[in-house]
Amino acid sequence: MAKSALSDPRFHNEEAAFAYVEAQLWPDGPICPHCGATGDRIGRLTGKTTRIGLRKCYACRKPFTVRMGTIFEDSHLPLRLWLQAIHLMCASKKGISTRQLQRMLGCGMKTAWFLGHRIRHAMAPGASGPLGGGGKTVEADETALTNSPKTKRGPGRKRPYANVLSLVERGGPIRSMTLDHRSVRSFLYSQVDEESRLVTDSARHYRFPPVAKHESVDHSKFEWARGDVHTNTLEGFFSIFKRGLIGIYQHVDSRHLDRYLAEFDFRQNTRVKLGINDLQRADIALQGFKGKRLTYQTTGQQA
Ligand SMILES: [Zn+2]
Repeated sequence: MAKSALSDPRFHNEEAAFAYVEAQLWPDGPICPHCGATGDRIGRLTGKTTRIGLRKCYACRKPFTVRMGTIFEDSHLPLRLWLQAIHLMCASKKGISTRQLQRMLGCGMKTAWFLGHRIRHAMAPGASGPLGGGGKTVEADETALTNSPKTKRGPGRKRPYANVLSLVERGGPIRSMTLDHRSVRSFLYSQVDEESRLVTDSARHYRFPPVAKHESVDHSKFEWARGDVHTNTLEGFFSIFKRGLIGIYQHVDSRHLDRYLAEFDFRQNTRVKLGINDLQRADIALQGFKGKRLTYQTTGQQA
C-alpha cells in the first residue's frame, strides 16, 4: 500500500516537526531573531525540562526558537499540527473548509479557523513589483461574486457582494484583488508594467490603459478570442475560484475575501503544471511564514 502523504514523522512528532521547519527556515543554520547573530554564537539548550527547539544567542544572551518572529509565534499550537494544516491546504485544489480541517486534524472549530486564516496570510505574496514588462502579455479581467443560490434570499439578492479583478502575466504569476473603493484603473497603474501588452475585454474602464499596447475582445459582439487576444487564462481561474467559494467555503465574509484570493492565487502560481508537487507547494507556503507576523492585523483571534 502506498504511504500516506501525512505519514512522515514531522506530522506526528514535535521534535521532527521542529527539525523540519528549522531546515526550511534556517537552511544555513539558526539566526537569532533578536540581533541577527549566526554560527557559533548560537547554542542549543538541552535538558529534560527545556522546550523543544530552544536556542540561546551568546551575542545578545536571549533565548529563541524557530517559531519566533514568524506567523507560528501567534499561537501555542504544536508545529506538527501547523504542518498538517499547511499540507492539507496546499494539497486541496479548491481549498479546505474549516470543518474539514477540524475533522482531519481532530482540533476545535476555532483552532481550525485560526489555522486556515494564518496559512492564507502566509500564502499572500509579500511586496512584489508590477506584472509584465517589455515583450510580455498581461491579461486583465473581472468577475462579480454573488451569493450561492442556496443562500440567496430577499430583494436585491442578485446584487454581487464583491467584485474581483485578476491580472495574469502569460507564463507568469497571477494576482487577484477585491475592487472595493479602488478602481480597475488604479490597479492597472500600480500592478502592470507600462511596457506590457495588455489584453482585456472591451469594458469602458480598460480604455486608454497605462501600457505600451492594448488589445481587447468584444464580448458584446460574441467575440471571445481573436488569435491570442483573449482572457481565457483568467476565465479558467475564476471558474476554480468560484467553485471553491461555493462548494468549499460557502460563507465567505467579504472582509476576508482578499485572503481567500491569496490562497487561490498561491495554488495557481505553484500548480502541478509548473512541476510543483503537493510537498513542494507546502514548503513554499512555509517560506511565507517568515517576516509576516506583524502584518497580520484584521482578526486578532488567538488559538
Ligand atoms: Zn541575539
